[in-house]
Amino acid sequence: MTFRENANIGAGRASRRGGGGGGMAVGGGLGALLLALVVMLFGGDPGAILGGGQQTPSSAENVDLAECTSGADANENRDCRVKGAMLSLEQYWTQTYERAEPTQAIIFSGAVDTQCGQASSQVGPFYCPVDETIYLDTGFFDQLEGQLGADGGTLGEMYVIAHEYGHHIQNYTGALRASQQGEQGPESGAVRVELQADCFAGAWVANASTTGDQLLVAPTQEEIRSALSAAAAVGDDSIQERMQGQVTPHTWTHGSSEQRMGWFMRGYESGEANQCDVLNAASVDDY
Ligand SMILES: [Zn+2]
Repeated sequence: MTFRENANIGAGRASRRGGGGGGMAVGGGLGALLLALVVMLFGGDPGAILGGGQQTPSSAENVDLAECTSGADANENRDCRVKGAMLSLEQYWTQTYERAEPTQAIIFSGAVDTQCGQASSQVGPFYCPVDETIYLDTGFFDQLEGQLGADGGTLGEMYVIAHEYGHHIQNYTGALRASQQGEQGPESGAVRVELQADCFAGAWVANASTTGDQLLVAPTQEEIRSALSAAAAVGDDSIQERMQGQVTPHTWTHGSSEQRMGWFMRGYESGEANQCDVLNAASVDDY
């Protein structure tokens, strides 16, 4: 799913915080307890899961986001692509769910202060419901494609943004509360909320070429496979297999690779966000 070369993405709500480099020093994956309780993590955070001190990813493609103005910029540059995807998502969701205000994305390097607390890049992309903002270090995409095994396609990257935007919508629908009861496991509220965000991402992909200013062209089958490979890469079973050599479903918070792909496809094939009612599904396998 590429951007139309002359599409105007100048109004995309994405900005950079901090000056790159090492950023602030924080001691672990999570800088504050508050953060652990309220943010919506993406799930691709093996460093944080294991409590290890792995390398902090950093993006080699940093640009001045104000200079990202066209679809061509978004096709060429990862940070510009975040900005373009944010605008397309905003246009889709303002039509689809009018109650939600637009959200914004803040790109950071190393660590960032949010109203949910301080976080390092190790936690992966996340949404903070207190300040209603998506935070990501685009270096995560290197981790997604390297360590976690996604195929590196750009739709896989945009799926991540769309998933986080989905959490913002859930903040307005009230669904997000279901994830904050501290439960884990395959049928938990936490998993259902994550799978709904994947389904929302699929619904956006289905509509992105026709919604709003039609910033994007319709996805190819290969691009859909990229999104699916990213969804599979961040499945709890896939991450656990890679990082701890065994799968422990009772600790799942995001769903299996199969479930994440399944709900993404439910959203994509139906093209309807209202087909994403994972919270009331009899089983999370009913995609
Ligand atoms: Zn999530």
